[in-house]
Amino acid sequence: MLKKDEIYEIQVVDMGHKGEAIGKVDGFTVFVDGAVKGDIVKGRITLSKKSYATAELVEIVTPSQDRVTPKCKLSGICGGCQIMHMDYNKQLEMKQDQIKQNLSRIGKIESPNLLPIIGMENPYNYRNKAQFPLEVDSKGNLQIGFYKKFSHDVIPFDTCHIQDPINDKILNIVKQYIRKNDITIYDEKTNSGNIKRIVTKVGFKTGEVMVVVVTKSKILPKNDQLVSMLKKEIPGLKTVVQNINPKQTNVILGEKNFVLFGNGTITDKLHDLVFEISPNSFYQVNPVQTDVLYSKALEFADIDNTKTVVDVYCGIGTISLFLAQKAKKVIGVEVLEQSIEDAKRNAKINKLNNAEFLCGKAEEVLPKLYEDGVRADVVVVDPPRKGCEEIVLKTIAEMNVEKIIYVSCNPSTLARDIEILSHHGYKMEKGQGVDMFPHSMHVEAIILMTRSGSGEKK
Ligand code: SAH
Repeated sequence: MLKKDEIYEIQVVDMGHKGEAIGKVDGFTVFVDGAVKGDIVKGRITLSKKSYATAELVEIVTPSQDRVTPKCKLSGICGGCQIMHMDYNKQLEMKQDQIKQNLSRIGKIESPNLLPIIGMENPYNYRNKAQFPLEVDSKGNLQIGFYKKFSHDVIPFDTCHIQDPINDKILNIVKQYIRKNDITIYDEKTNSGNIKRIVTKVGFKTGEVMVVVVTKSKILPKNDQLVSMLKKEIPGLKTVVQNINPKQTNVILGEKNFVLFGNGTITDKLHDLVFEISPNSFYQVNPVQTDVLYSKALEFADIDNTKTVVDVYCGIGTISLFLAQKAKKVIGVEVLEQSIEDAKRNAKINKLNNAEFLCGKAEEVLPKLYEDGVRADVVVVDPPRKGCEEIVLKTIAEMNVEKIIYVSCNPSTLARDIEILSHHGYKMEKGQGVDMFPHSMHVEAIILMTRSGSGEKK
């Protein structure tokens, strides 16, 4: 066992899936936050267990060839990005490897046909959505920024290199408004105060801006002042919304929205399609890579106007409408009512009347569709991190679809579900990672599965 508070020289041999460096001291495993594979560092032991230890980085003795100077001076402090200190091509290699490992180990595919991950040409300023926490610090100063790593302390910033720079201006205006009017800031420890978060969304192609002020109370004093300040300074401002979230919870947005300015939505474009986006609905955060990902979905689906597609976990209908341009019919299934409303409106806006949207849990709606005799040629699933319920996978197999396209933001549940589908007679044809989240450890992948013909059917 290593001694707590002692400093050791650590050889970093690998990276864990949360971006933590995995190091060795005489063969003993030590996790070092902020180090990179290939580094030799000095680390002070913060936790010493029988089988492993954790250490804080004290000094870099020999830097790894993969190490770069991060663009952001808060890298390593802020909880937003985990690997900005790693060369971007190495980040991609690591993510490619992570997908492959999961497919092999959990998915039990010996040598998966994984095409090279698609990275970004310019992996900065890519996010179209931000959620800023606020805090009054111990000196009584108002801070708006991001959470410090592993904590709920807010650290302010001048500019965030993965966000749209318009956010810097918006936050300055919000600060002025709060100070001028003595608006209270919510304190999660005491469950008191009013403003909880500032959420912004920006239409990448349209430049339209949405500002959402999340409050505990129904009242946001002098909100007309905030609106007029934002209108004056933010050229693309399209809407300002007050979202009310009275609950003491980690969930950021509440269910109720009061529109303070505009119509409560912004629009954005993906290829030729226009999408309306509401405060609560899910919309991919990296529009450049979303284009790439959805084009892959279209390529993998390889459909014509004789095919019926079911898009499960469809959000505001983005993938559904992409495919509706080619398919005979698309049915989207989604649990969030506001997203379904957006999806229906988006179908109308884009004059795609071959898309139908159903609100409900996939695990309930899909079996019902099957019972009602609905069949599909292609099914797309794009579930949240926890993956698909087994009944969803079973029903897709029962529908006897030709192709399954699995879009996933979590390689381990993806691999688990692929393994389940293999018992239902489907095999992975090919797959590809698309880097939607540069400098973070998040990994997105798209997989095509087809009926293998020989597989056992349950
Ligand atoms: N395909 C969409 C959305 C993917 S995110 C896009 O690319 O934009 C996953 C979506 O699944 C979210 O919209 C979420 O609201 C929805 N969801 C989560 N659990 C669900 C469930 N049990 N049944 C149906 N939809 C669900």
